[in-house]
Amino acid sequence: MNEQRAIIIGSGPAGLTAGIYLARAGFKPLLIEGMEQGGQLMTTTHVDNFPGLGKTTGPAIIKSMRDHAERLGVAFAMDQIESVVREGDRLVLKGMIDEYSAPQVLLATGASVRKTGLPGEAQYWGRGISACLHCDAAFYAGRRVVVVGDGQSAIAAKTYLERSGCIVAATLRPDQVGEFRGEGGKLAEVGGIKVDGAFLVTARIPQTDFIPGLERDENGYVVTHERVLTNIPGLFAAGDCCQPHFRQAVIAAGDGAYAAMAMIGMAR
Ligand SMILES: Cc1cc2nc3c(=O)[nH]c(=O)nc-3n(C[C@H](O)[C@H](O)[C@H](O)COP(=O)(O)OP(=O)(O)OC[C@H]3O[C@@H](n4cnc5c(N)ncnc54)[C@H](O)[C@@H]3O)c2cc1C
Repeated sequence: MNEQRAIIIGSGPAGLTAGIYLARAGFKPLLIEGMEQGGQLMTTTHVDNFPGLGKTTGPAIIKSMRDHAERLGVAFAMDQIESVVREGDRLVLKGMIDEYSAPQVLLATGASVRKTGLPGEAQYWGRGISACLHCDAAFYAGRRVVVVGDGQSAIAAKTYLERSGCIVAATLRPDQVGEFRGEGGKLAEVGGIKVDGAFLVTARIPQTDFIPGLERDENGYVVTHERVLTNIPGLFAAGDCCQPHFRQAVIAAGDGAYAAMAMIGMAR
C-alpha cells in the first residue's frame, strides 16, 4: 500500500493546480494521472481565453502547469483508479497498477465528451468539429456552422453562436448528420450542408461512477457542498467532474485551488 498525506486523481487543470497549492503548503501530494494524461486540453489546438496567455494551445498550457507542479515537488503516478473506499480515517484507492491510501483525496477526473461515432468525426475533430462553444465560437465569427444536438442545449447553443457572430446554417440531431465530410484536411460538409464548423452539444460523461456511495446528480456530476466537499469525509471534488454548467480550464483551475485550500484548512 502506497501511503500518502494527500492524493489527487486527475492530471487536468483542476488536479495540477491543486497539486501546486498542496505542494507549496508542504503536503507532498501524489497526483494520479489516469489514461488521459493532461486531460481534455490535450485534445485542442487553439486556446485564446486562458487569462494572461493570449493565443496558445491546450498542450502548451498543460505542459507549463505540469512543469510548475513538478518543480514544486508534486509526485506523479501513471495509474487509473478503479475504486475509492473509506476505511477508518483513510481513503483507500485501488488502481489498475497499485493501491494507495490517504486521509484526504481530491477527485479531479473531468467529464468526457460524448462523441457521435459517425464517419469523419475522428478525422475532423479539432479541424472544424468542436465540442466547446465558449472555447471556439469566437474563431468562427462570420462563418457558417451547424449545431449537432437536440433539445434545450441545441437551442441555447444556436443563440450563443449567433451572438458570437456565427452564421448558424442548421441545427441537426446526431441521427440527421450521416457523416462529417471534409476538403483539404478541414471540415466542409455536415448532413449535406456546406459549413466551416460544427458544434457538438451532446451530453458530457463525468468520470465519477467508480466511487461507491458518492452523491451524484442525475447526469453523474458530483454533488458538492461548500463548493468542493463531497458526501464522503476526506473526499473533495474539483473541475468538470462537478461542473454541470460552465466547463472551462480557468474554472477548473480555480476549483482546484479552492479544493486544495480547503484540504489544507481541514487537515488533521
Ligand atoms: C476539444 C476541447 C477544447 C477545449 N477548449 C477549451 C478552451 O479553449 N478554453 C478553456 O478554458 N477550456 C477548454 N476546454 C475545456 C477544458 O479542457 C476543461 O474544462 C478542463 O480540461 C477541465 O479540467 P479538469 O481538470 O476538471 O478535467 P480534465 O481536463 O477532463 O482532466 C481529467 C483528468 O482525470 C483523469 N482521470 C479520469 N478518470 C480517472 C480515473 N479513474 N483514475 C485516474 N485518473 C482519472 C484523466 O486522465 C484526466 O487527466 C476544452 C475542452 C475540449 C474537450
